[in-house]
Amino acid sequence: MIKKIEHLGIAVKNITDANAVYHKLLGTESYKTEKVESENVLTSFFKVGESKIELLEGTSADSPITKFIEKKGEGIHHVAFEVEDIETEMRRLKDQGFTLLSDKPKQGADNKLICFVHPKSANGVLIELCQEIKK
Ligand code: ZN
Repeated sequence: MIKKIEHLGIAVKNITDANAVYHKLLGTESYKTEKVESENVLTSFFKVGESKIELLEGTSADSPITKFIEKKGEGIHHVAFEVEDIETEMRRLKDQGFTLLSDKPKQGADNKLICFVHPKSANGVLIELCQEIKK
């Protein structure tokens, strides 16, 4: 089951500058900054009611975020849906013909298991499934 839009991911060139912009825009400070080594990204999160904004800066030339900005410039990078059970949703979407970018859930930022769905199978939008890791 897909529960809600958990966050929108926004690709930025400089996370310090973008933090200042979104601080002004949302009237709230980033509550967390986290490096995701597996994706070569630096992330920063803002709460917006029930959802969040995730700013992403690439930390290397081969980071997916660096490549995205080279191709398309800064902007919305992905839409993340929170799911009850990520493995069940991955199986369901695979059966429906969606292309998943990994066979197994990966460790994401903000205490989540994540999996991406290829934008080609979702009308040009990169979709992230995420499930909170229960402590
Ligand atoms: Zn995300």
